[in-house]
Amino acid sequence: MSSTAKYIFVTGGVTSSLGKGIIAASLAKLLQARGFKVTIQKFDPYINIDPGTLNPYEHGECYVTEDGAETDLDLGHYERFLSVKTTQANNITTGRIYNNVITKERKGEYLGKTVQVVPHITDEIKRNIFLLGESGEYDFIITEIGGCVGDIESLPFIEAVRQVKWDLGPNSAIVIHLTLLPYLNAAKELKTKPTQHSVKELLEAGIQPDILVCRSEKPLPMDIRKKLALFCNVHLNSVIEAMDAETIYDVPLHMRKEKLDERVLSKLKVPSKEEPDLEQWKIFLGRLKNPLNEVTIAIVGKYVSLPDAYKSIAEAFVHAGAQNDCKVNIKWISSEEIYKESVAHVLQGIDGVLVAPGFGERGLEGKIEAIRYVRENKIPFFGICLGMQCCVVEFARHVLGLEASTTELNPKTKNPVIDMMEEQKKITIKGGTMRLGSYNCKVKKGSKAHHAYGESIIQERHRHRYEFNNKYLEQMEDSGLKATGINPESNLVEIVELKDHPWFVGVQYHPELKSTVLNPHPLFVRFVEAALENKRI
Ligand code: GLN
Repeated sequence: MSSTAKYIFVTGGVTSSLGKGIIAASLAKLLQARGFKVTIQKFDPYINIDPGTLNPYEHGECYVTEDGAETDLDLGHYERFLSVKTTQANNITTGRIYNNVITKERKGEYLGKTVQVVPHITDEIKRNIFLLGESGEYDFIITEIGGCVGDIESLPFIEAVRQVKWDLGPNSAIVIHLTLLPYLNAAKELKTKPTQHSVKELLEAGIQPDILVCRSEKPLPMDIRKKLALFCNVHLNSVIEAMDAETIYDVPLHMRKEKLDERVLSKLKVPSKEEPDLEQWKIFLGRLKNPLNEVTIAIVGKYVSLPDAYKSIAEAFVHAGAQNDCKVNIKWISSEEIYKESVAHVLQGIDGVLVAPGFGERGLEGKIEAIRYVRENKIPFFGICLGMQCCVVEFARHVLGLEASTTELNPKTKNPVIDMMEEQKKITIKGGTMRLGSYNCKVKKGSKAHHAYGESIIQERHRHRYEFNNKYLEQMEDSGLKATGINPESNLVEIVELKDHPWFVGVQYHPELKSTVLNPHPLFVRFVEAALENKRI
């Protein structure tokens, strides 16, 4: 175990969806802005080994890291706030913990002992907590425990936290408990009882929280703070108010005002004379809140009734919008709503269209119709992953006049312009065939992508099974759909662009995963710029 890294655990009480991820990311931002090295880890108490196979309707987007881990969308917030890359080690589920323990047991590593939740499962959890600390790369490890205190599923994690606190002593590990103070309109009062109960629940598990972060719709009056401090055994200045924010990017500043970072440093006995340097962050917020222009972008996808399914895309537009001093209004459009007769009406007043990623969709024809419309009407278009594949199919059908499709949808299509590669076909276990994580891409000079990136070799993250079929490359390029980004190792097409169009770019990878507050993604920045141009004409 690391002697220098400090551990901060974030637990949640009363209800789920209080925004533990945002509070953890905001605290990390404040510590980082003071010059510390920080990473965040999330423990998810479900049995799935990773969120890769979870339905986005239930769980929101699956966030892919550089090393190809399919993780919880909270990791996206960590990267967007910190501009620090996460890995598999940053997201651990109950399923993974049990899988590791059972694998060890099968190998005979427990020497015939009875394998139990305590100590074997809790030891495996602790091993994963210390893994990041032992790397020597970080001053602080912030570990978010998914779910609510008192859930059956999170018990082993809470027990592991208790043990870590006990093992390391008071100045090396602390617990921040995030809770809700409901406002009762009839009584005109914020209520502390649910918080008292959830702290009691933690105490029963042997954990005294060091800091309470209280989500509420109203400011916390002093008498409420005092009451919480007294009943929950926390210092008065460790009762932190977390009011609903206008944007999640305000939260680090709110936490700064409430001195969350100072409380953490003093509890962990870490001296810091420097004030957090939040200049760049404030400039971003200033631009975000004072836009000079406005555009409307349509996102055409399948899971549009749950925007969390496209969280990183929506956030990438927030970053790119601020960079352009432009408010980006997003209009979510279900691909099933789009057909030949409706497309002009549905896309009326839209300045740019993004066709979203997806898997095995019924709405594919709607996506293709939307692309035909924006291609013909010269409306800026950005296709991501399945969105790029759709623009290739559309081009093959309507420009090359081929009876074409992707084999994902029609395995018997005459012209499989998007197809699975031979090596991938051999791997049959579901999930095993995906191209995941970061790959190199060589970008052609003179292309829109090159203009955006300003570089010839870039790295972007992937999560897909199907690829552009190079058999059709020449034919496509001759007719105007150019492959402007190629994977130099495998020769796979990564970017396509249409000639003679103001901005028509399809990418096989997921650029949204690399957009952060301080480094907005260049393709999103250029796409918003193109949408603005389009609006002006
Ligand atoms: N379903 C497509 C594939 O597997 C695209 C995946 C995606 O959009 N992430 O290749």
